Amino acid sequence: MTVDSVSVDVVVVGLGALGSATAYQLAARGCSVVGLEQFALGHERGASHDSSRILRHSYHTPGYVRLTFDAYGDWADLEAAAGEALVTTVGGLDFFPPGAAIPPADYVESMSALAVPFEQLDTAQVRDRWPQFRLPDGTVTLYQERAAIVPAARATAAMQRLARRHGADLRDWCPATGLCDLADAGVEVMTPNGAIRARRVVLCTDAWANRLLGDLDATLPLTTTLEQVTYFAPPRPADFVPELMPLWIWMDDPSFYGFPCYGEQTVKAAEDCGGPAVDPDQRSFEPDAERLALLADFMAGFLPGSGAAVRSKTCLYTLTPDRDFALGAVPGHEAVLVGLGAAHGFKFAPTFGRLLADLATTGETGTDLSAFRLDRPALTEADVSLSWLV
Ligand SMILES: Cc1cc2nc3c(=O)[nH]c(=O)nc-3n(C[C@H](O)[C@H](O)[C@H](O)COP(=O)(O)OP(=O)(O)OC[C@H]3O[C@@H](n4cnc5c(N)ncnc54)[C@H](O)[C@@H]3O)c2cc1C
Repeated sequence: MTVDSVSVDVVVVGLGALGSATAYQLAARGCSVVGLEQFALGHERGASHDSSRILRHSYHTPGYVRLTFDAYGDWADLEAAAGEALVTTVGGLDFFPPGAAIPPADYVESMSALAVPFEQLDTAQVRDRWPQFRLPDGTVTLYQERAAIVPAARATAAMQRLARRHGADLRDWCPATGLCDLADAGVEVMTPNGAIRARRVVLCTDAWANRLLGDLDATLPLTTTLEQVTYFAPPRPADFVPELMPLWIWMDDPSFYGFPCYGEQTVKAAEDCGGPAVDPDQRSFEPDAERLALLADFMAGFLPGSGAAVRSKTCLYTLTPDRDFALGAVPGHEAVLVGLGAAHGFKFAPTFGRLLADLATTGETGTDLSAFRLDRPALTEADVSLSWLV
């Protein structure tokens, strides 16, 4: 069934962190918004569930470091709007072992360029301040005091609540099954309950992005991987509280990251980009024993007091070849916008929401998004080498 006129300003497809942030921002600006989610709100089949995500300034390019300032500001605005504390500052340690696959210079230069305060520490200095860690001699460590934890599922739910409070019509178990760009007549979004015509459509569908982009003949070279995080139970949890241990990232190949105790007496850790490529609708929810063993082996040497693994959870990464975001209009379809976080977007979710709302309402933002264009070479040229370790 088709509709013969525009019925809403914006349809947001996908209500994970990015889509929920966008629906909130648009509704708060007085737009009529319909948000579509194929599963239940708060489901655990995508990328925005579970307890914690890292928010940090330390990044490998000045462009990202600059954007992290927006992220911190947007999280503070979200906390104020939601009336809820969402950001837990714990400090962050970036560890670069000798011969690290990820060069510390990128981080040192990028943070220095934006005057982000940080400390560069050697192994002995780390041992004195954070005796929980065992590091190979010669490890370069960067400490940034503002690194923080944000709650994945709870923050996403807060943004959905705010979106509804401002009048957004969020519909779960309602997949967008097709997309048709009608130029001046708007964009038509097909659903099992009929079609919706909108001025703008924002796609925040992450692992499923190419399902609808295919309707516009605008698919992206994306890889979805099945990642898993594991919770370890330290015999002495008091040694792993945020006051005594920051969050951390091991900047090598394989790359690992982890958190102090957060809401429970466990420490969470995971490998970054270690999972197999999967189809989001065919993936398993069963943790992979081999990858658990790899992580547990690493933890036993690196954080020996972390104890035994008690549970693991799976989650999806959706990666561009250069691991930069996809943020902007679909080339040739200016009324259709995409927001894709390339498996490091949660910290920027409130910012994605604000920027996508800018683009959907005025067609422009005050932020340079050229690095994230959908027609950039990394997304349009063949045989682009993958650079996922950042
Ligand atoms: C294990 C793990 C750890 C991470 N750690 C960090 C971190 O520390 N810091 C950080 O910044 N980022 C981190 N990330 C990345 C971050 O979580 C993601 O970038 C972010 O959650 C992506 O949000 P999203 O809304 O785009 O995707 P999703 O949450 O997957 O949402 C997409 C939604 O679209 C829906 N959808 C798809 N197709 C349709 C359709 N046709 N109709 C209706 N609905 C549809 C899906 O059901 C889904 O709900 C991590 C990710 C994982 C998996």
